[in-house]
Amino acid sequence: MPATGRATFACVATVAAYATGVLGRPEGTAVFYDLVLYNAVYVLGAVVCLRTAARHRQERTAWLALAFALGAAAASTVLHTVVLAPSFGEVPSWMIMLLWLPSYPALAVALAGLIRSRAPATHPSMWLDALIGALGAVALAVSVFPLIAAGPDDGLVTAALLYPLADTLLLAALSAAAAIIGLRRDWPLLLLSTGLLCNLAGDGLYLAQVVGDAVTVDGGLNLTWLAGAALTTVAAHVTGCTPRTVPADVDPLARIGWRILFVPLMANAVSLTVLVGTWGDGVLGLAGWAAVGCLLATLARMAMSFQELRGLHEIREQARTDELTGLPNRRALLEHARTALTPGTGRPVALLLLDLDGFKEVNDSLGHAAGDDLLRQIGPRLRPALGPGELIARLGGDEFAVLLPGTGVDGATARAERLRARLLEPFVVLGERLHVGVSVGIATGPVPAATVTELLRCADVAMYAAKNAREGVRSYVPDPGSGSGDRLRTMEDLRTALAEGQLVVHLQPQVALGGGEVVGVEALVRWEHPVRGLLSPAVVLPAAEQAGLMRPLTDAVLGLALTAATRWWPERAVPVSVNLSAANVTDPDLPATVSRLLRAHGLPAEALTLELVEDTLMADPDRGRTVLGELRRLGVRTSIDDYGTGYSSLAYLRHLPADELKLDRSLTADLGRDHRATAIVRHTVALAHDLGLTLVAEGVEDDETKVVLASLGCDVAQGWAVARPMPVEQFLDWLAGRTRTGTARPALPAPRGPAERTRA
Ligand code: C2E
Ligand code: MG
Ligand code: MG
Repeated sequence: MPATGRATFACVATVAAYATGVLGRPEGTAVFYDLVLYNAVYVLGAVVCLRTAARHRQERTAWLALAFALGAAAASTVLHTVVLAPSFGEVPSWMIMLLWLPSYPALAVALAGLIRSRAPATHPSMWLDALIGALGAVALAVSVFPLIAAGPDDGLVTAALLYPLADTLLLAALSAAAAIIGLRRDWPLLLLSTGLLCNLAGDGLYLAQVVGDAVTVDGGLNLTWLAGAALTTVAAHVTGCTPRTVPADVDPLARIGWRILFVPLMANAVSLTVLVGTWGDGVLGLAGWAAVGCLLATLARMAMSFQELRGLHEIREQARTDELTGLPNRRALLEHARTALTPGTGRPVALLLLDLDGFKEVNDSLGHAAGDDLLRQIGPRLRPALGPGELIARLGGDEFAVLLPGTGVDGATARAERLRARLLEPFVVLGERLHVGVSVGIATGPVPAATVTELLRCADVAMYAAKNAREGVRSYVPDPGSGSGDRLRTMEDLRTALAEGQLVVHLQPQVALGGGEVVGVEALVRWEHPVRGLLSPAVVLPAAEQAGLMRPLTDAVLGLALTAATRWWPERAVPVSVNLSAANVTDPDLPATVSRLLRAHGLPAEALTLELVEDTLMADPDRGRTVLGELRRLGVRTSIDDYGTGYSSLAYLRHLPADELKLDRSLTADLGRDHRATAIVRHTVALAHDLGLTLVAEGVEDDETKVVLASLGCDVAQGWAVARPMPVEQFLDWLAGRTRTGTARPALPAPRGPAERTRA
């Protein structure tokens, strides 16, 4: 048992020993009982408090003050018993009565310290709660011990009155604390409160005796005070045993609940009871005034709560409002949609998802201020077309949503057309007239979308379908098959695919148009979807872009392509080409990643070619040039893909650090039939060669085109006329069947027909 435990036990045992003398004491033991036992309780209590003060830095002052209060009480009793009692009559009795008062300021300091350590941060409303609790306690104490408020007739009564009054004030402080920190199982405070109640009981009884002029301070009365001291000692011991490093929180949220309401509610109930009890007396009295004060403080608290609620409401509104446009935001829309979709109402709900077409161009060409201005005009433009209960919200970027409760699919389509027509009217943005397009997707609930998430997802799918088909407005049509149109689901699945290695590459060879030897191979991503089968880049890439997974996707493809290349590189030095996307161009870590992967696969830099689409480079030419430059410094070959589909000028090529130019299929498809296409290719070949670039023709589907390309001086061909993209194993077989000089070995013919079937 720790030292405080032994001292506490001794303290309680001493009280028990003292109690044995209440009914009758053996002759001549008065000194033992009233001097030794009585004061031993206080001294032991003071010792325990001192030890607790030493252990608890946070509550040191409080426990030191309690030690002082107990010690002072013992000293006063000793002084009273040893010095003053024998010469009774020499000192006025009312003065003797004041002997124990010095303990009270110490008790007040102690309580303040304990409360402070439990409620380090306070809020104005807490002080009102405290006032309500304190006034309620005063009203209760005064009505239970009416003598506290009774007019004192002489000095002795006044002195005796001070004690219950001080007890009441301390108890009021404790109930105030309970109102602040909430009712909880805080043993030290509960023990101290009970101790104070014991004191109050003793002091009240004593006052009654003084008033009745029948003072008989017997063992029974003393026992109430001793119980108070013992309970304080136990409180100190309990505190010493429970380490408390973190001050108890007064987090406003933690304060919510009946625990916090309990004390103010009780205080009000007491006050009302007191007022009803004094009704008709004509005089309010101290208890009555305290009760009135308590009720007034409650009214003030209600006013404050009202203010707090208003503040909360404002914060809530802000959290539901889009800052730029002042329209409801996604959160608000979800809330409304949830209400509108409440099961059992049977009412239809329509959600229109609107996405501006060409908003990026507005931002790019006129600046972000113009873009913001345009977005701010959307709400006022659409709102007049909405009825009561209908809502327009901004979901983010240039995406808006309109919620139409009570509208079915036909009504929604008509409304969508009308809203779209409104947006097609020109806008005036920063003084310029501007036309913007908009694509609208419509989804309805509860069929087919039963939940808000479904509703948003379906509207999103419909909106993308409308955008891709340039249709303006489209309703969601459920796909009974795989749901392959569900972009959002695809995005989610793609995350899993990357984590679980469902991506693969198919390889398509490139051959020299002169000798026919294999000079390169392009790795093209495929997704082996467990349900939907083999998916093409047309599905994978948009989903990866939307989900922000472009970088991990490229890393995965680079890994797969290099792993494949390790299988032929030792025998055949055929470089593998990997496609980069716009997200990779802005990735400052790309060169480091590439060089790490090459090292990890034990391949030299010339084993890899990286392709960048012309448009990607045009979007950020400086960045593109830097990345190409850095990659080339590594020794990796660089290639400009899909050349001819973008808007780059031929002159621009001069500044690009590239090794290869890939002529897009759109330029090679009609070769031989269209003399303009032939002229373009001839001149591009000349330019590419002048700039020291190798020219690769893409999408070469037949031998005829191959012949024309060769005659125009094109260097390399890639396309079905050579081979379709194929899985790695199949490519290895195909490569093994080709001689180094480019002819096919008769034993292993190139695979005929489609080598793959993918779902776009
Ligand atoms: P690309 O880089 O221009 O790749 C050539 C595309 O043309 C491939 O389509 C290929 O299957 C197809 N093709 C090849 N020969 C012929 C032909 O003779 N006729 C026709 N009509 N098509 C032919 P695929 O595999 O669907 O890839 C489409 C595009 O997706 C690629 O165009 C490339 O830009 C992109 N892509 C593919 N894999 C990746 C990748 O791992 N990362 C990135 N960022 N993009 C990729
Ligand atoms: Mg490519
Ligand atoms: Mg291409």
